[in-house]
Amino acid sequence: MTRANTTRRRRRAFVHLLILMATAVALAPPLAGQNDDHNREPVDLQAIYRIKDEGLQRSKVMDIASYLTDVHGPRLTGSPNIRAAAEWAVKEMQAWGLANATLATWGSFGRGWTNDRYAGHLMTPARSPIIAYPKAWTPGTNGPVVSEAVRAVLANEADLNSQRGKLRGKFVLTEPERAVSAHVEPQARRYSDSDLAERARQPVAQPQGGGGSNVANQEFLRKRMAFLVSEGVAATLEPGRGDGGTVFVLGGGSRHAQDPPSVPQIVVAVEHYNRIVRILDREIPVTLEFDIRNTFHDADLNAFNLVAEIPGTDKADELVMLGAHFDSWHGGTGATDNAAGSAVMMEAMRILKVTGLRLRRTVRIALWTGEEHGLLGSRAYVNEHFGSRQTLELKPGHRKLSGYFNVDNGTGAIRGVYLQGNETISPIFAAWMEPFQNLGMTTLAIRNTGGTDHLAFNEVGLPGFQFIQDPIEYESRTHHSNMDVYDRLQASDMMKNAVIVASFVYHAANRDSLLPRKPLPKPAPRPGASSGGP
Ligand SMILES: [Zn+2]
Repeated sequence: MTRANTTRRRRRAFVHLLILMATAVALAPPLAGQNDDHNREPVDLQAIYRIKDEGLQRSKVMDIASYLTDVHGPRLTGSPNIRAAAEWAVKEMQAWGLANATLATWGSFGRGWTNDRYAGHLMTPARSPIIAYPKAWTPGTNGPVVSEAVRAVLANEADLNSQRGKLRGKFVLTEPERAVSAHVEPQARRYSDSDLAERARQPVAQPQGGGGSNVANQEFLRKRMAFLVSEGVAATLEPGRGDGGTVFVLGGGSRHAQDPPSVPQIVVAVEHYNRIVRILDREIPVTLEFDIRNTFHDADLNAFNLVAEIPGTDKADELVMLGAHFDSWHGGTGATDNAAGSAVMMEAMRILKVTGLRLRRTVRIALWTGEEHGLLGSRAYVNEHFGSRQTLELKPGHRKLSGYFNVDNGTGAIRGVYLQGNETISPIFAAWMEPFQNLGMTTLAIRNTGGTDHLAFNEVGLPGFQFIQDPIEYESRTHHSNMDVYDRLQASDMMKNAVIVASFVYHAANRDSLLPRKPLPKPAPRPGASSGGP
């Protein structure tokens, strides 16, 4: 070591000392009588140690996810699968010692639906199996059907008139060939620092466009379906979003028995669909065979949420909630949407229970159904316990809920929290997030994020939050696709997420006061009754 270095080291040490002194002044508690708004939010590092130890060393999150996905399969609301999965989850939570674990009926949903068999083949000019899935709530084929494929443009009423009498008993391809590109970008990604910085910026509201054409389109689609039913087509075929064996598929019929019927509707892997279109374009006849067995389940039209609790101590009448939706679509096993969120929330409860950490407020998990049909389960629950979003008439429970935490953006690691515009939360969450910087959680985004059950809470002025998560393959591959399966879950992300959620819930449960709220929103007018659809 040279002498010059020693001098530099001394100088550096002196600068460090100055910084330390300045920091000590800055961090000193406010003097008596001084405004203490800037008191730092307390963080219990001992508790976080125990939560991390349990959640990272003895995690059960992937076991839970495997039972939900592998064992019970897709979990469409109203289906026998979702009931079996929910009964398993309730038993599991009871076995962990959670209190009041039960299925709470929230009201009428409509018929359940399952796809019980699928076989599809190109028969002529050359035999090949076809990758495809029926849309949910559509009828099956009533046994194997062999018939001709036809391409029919059905874009307006003139098209319907020109096709009248030509489609009976046929498999109707309703869309043109769709170009497929190579994937030169990776399908999976994590947020970079600059992605997160961009996400943290306050977005400026965009002017709203008119929405008239959508209503007209809905009206035409109803007419088109009535036409296809009256013409007696065997089924419609359309290319799915996605490629390379991935098919995105939602619903196509109504869950209400009194609504107009639909024909069988089949979503085909794009490459297989395009092949049929290209053969037809060469004026070579195509014969297809489909055998699709779908079952409507009418025995119980009601749906339920799953709830369970850890009772609080001195503030047991107050509540912190965590949740995720439990229902899924049917092409895969609903792994990233949303067994991931459900398993993370169950695991967070297990961690809080097994560590025996003291919780002043009662902590309640709710796993919702009907989310995919418009947040039905969570909105019904909020309406029953906290208040009406239509009138903003509030229930006594409204004063007792501190906050609600939701996970429903896939399997990706939590990188922060969306604050839903609630500025007052920012210093609190900043303190709670600080110990998780080393797990990659660094960002508070003031913006709203939508699309899932925390909205039900925000709609009645309650603090409801969704975490910022790495996208991984959510939009590119898994969200609502046939490849939304266990193997696409990222175990280490799931483990981290459960630890972070458990810690946020722990700190919310033990905070002196409830989380601060935004002003009450305006009442939301009752939306038009919608039926079926995605
Ligand atoms: Zn979801």
